[in-house]
Amino acid sequence: MSTFDPPKVTTASRLFAGAAALFLAGGASAAAPPPAPKLIVAISVDQLSAQLFREYRPTFTGGLKRIADGIVFANGYQAHAATETCPGHSTILTGGHPARTGIVANTWYDGSLARPDKSVYCSEDTSVPGSTSRAYTVSDRHLKVDTLGDRMKAADPRTRVVAVGGKDRSAVMLGGHRPDQRWYWKTDRFVSTATVPAPRLVDAVNTNIAGAIARPRPAMAVPPHCTAKDVAIPIGGGKTVGTHKFARAAGEARAVLVSPEVDGATLAMAAALRQELRLGQGPQTDLLAIGLAGTDYVGHTYGTGGVEMCLQLATLDGDLATFFEVLDRTRVPYAVVLTADHGGLDLPERARLQGTPDAARIDPAITPEGLGERVAAELGLSGRVFAGEYYLTTDVPADRRAAALAAARRLLAGHPQVEAVFGKDEIAAVPMPATRPEDWSIPERFRASFDPARSGDLFVALKQNITPIVDPTGGYVATHGSVWDYDRKVPIAFWWRGAPRQDRPESAMTVDIMPTLAAMVGLTLPADGYDGRCLGAVTNCPTAR
Ligand code: ZN
Repeated sequence: MSTFDPPKVTTASRLFAGAAALFLAGGASAAAPPPAPKLIVAISVDQLSAQLFREYRPTFTGGLKRIADGIVFANGYQAHAATETCPGHSTILTGGHPARTGIVANTWYDGSLARPDKSVYCSEDTSVPGSTSRAYTVSDRHLKVDTLGDRMKAADPRTRVVAVGGKDRSAVMLGGHRPDQRWYWKTDRFVSTATVPAPRLVDAVNTNIAGAIARPRPAMAVPPHCTAKDVAIPIGGGKTVGTHKFARAAGEARAVLVSPEVDGATLAMAAALRQELRLGQGPQTDLLAIGLAGTDYVGHTYGTGGVEMCLQLATLDGDLATFFEVLDRTRVPYAVVLTADHGGLDLPERARLQGTPDAARIDPAITPEGLGERVAAELGLSGRVFAGEYYLTTDVPADRRAAALAAARRLLAGHPQVEAVFGKDEIAAVPMPATRPEDWSIPERFRASFDPARSGDLFVALKQNITPIVDPTGGYVATHGSVWDYDRKVPIAFWWRGAPRQDRPESAMTVDIMPTLAAMVGLTLPADGYDGRCLGAVTNCPTAR
């Protein structure tokens, strides 16, 4: 078994594809894999909707093409209603819906907290003195269940688990409770909460990233298949989206995050950690989990229908090709699963121009803030009525809470942008859905991401194509988070060398990934420990379930 040459840290050619390319030296072509992989590579492309995957699939030529040529469930589902990053990532390697993982939102509200900030960030260690939902120590304490990596380590303590994320919450939810290494992007580099010394190559990659940030970046060239999308869409205030090519000045670290660069950096870090820990090269099977955040930041900032997303996905395709080539040269037999934490919706200003007349921004009167002000005025309440996704705050006295909720429901009822509203008791009474995800009712979708202690007081489903961002000129222009399939549907694809090329017509859920991978690596699961099912199209599943 040959080893890599040490990485050079002096060059970066095409964005951070250059960083990943630094690890390409040496090695031979891949060997045929044994029946069981020695390395599981789980990749989450944040906000990669099934619609984007379908639209761009014919344009893939690199790493995304490799995955698309494997076993593809184009009708994959993050089946629950809370289609946000932290809940979505919590399903992928636990096999549990957010109702089981406890990760019901990126941020929830806990009125029982002693501190002034009652919001709880999903990857925050609330036990650290001085912690807030915005200035926090990263932690897995809110994840209620084990991940695949936790289970693999329990079965074989030699198993190594490494998680790398463009966001801390993706690294935490994919890496679980006992990762050997967990690294995530913070401001301008990858950091970790671990107290053990950093692997040598982490410093090398961070040095490389710092060098790249310090250099200005010219506008990206637009590939032919992206030119038709290079159209300016006015969003008000003299601003447009649709034509940004990711040029930036030297030192603009935030612009690295909101660009294809961050995924190249994340993949370079993943390759470095795999190399240094020699993942897949021991007697056991190891796990490398990767959260790629660039697609999400690009989608939020520029929408999903412009040249920006086209450049993002084309670059990701190339960077993943480099990453897989690096893995091939290790001769480690590896299996890949690629999916997403949620889908997404383009901005309404562009959607209307492209033939979706009902696309609109939310009426400020029904946002948690706007609705709360109307309830307060009606009931003579002071302070803030709603926080987050319709959590009654501690400003509302105990003897007025029922009246506040009743007033809010009356104000929402019949509003043209509101599809349905449910109370906490109503969702708690819904049995966990056991049918196919395409058949779930809206209350069942809410139920799958319901936790009695962490969920809000009202469950509000807006109509389809309503974007819950009032003003696009101040920051994000587009988002996700709805109960609708454009936010629920994601690709779920499996690839290994020699994998059959199959497009599966049936639906699958992201909670099916964990039991499928468990079967692939020969791990026995407790029958009541997860919500998904092993996908028989991918591997030989245990017969009992
Ligand atoms: Zn996300």
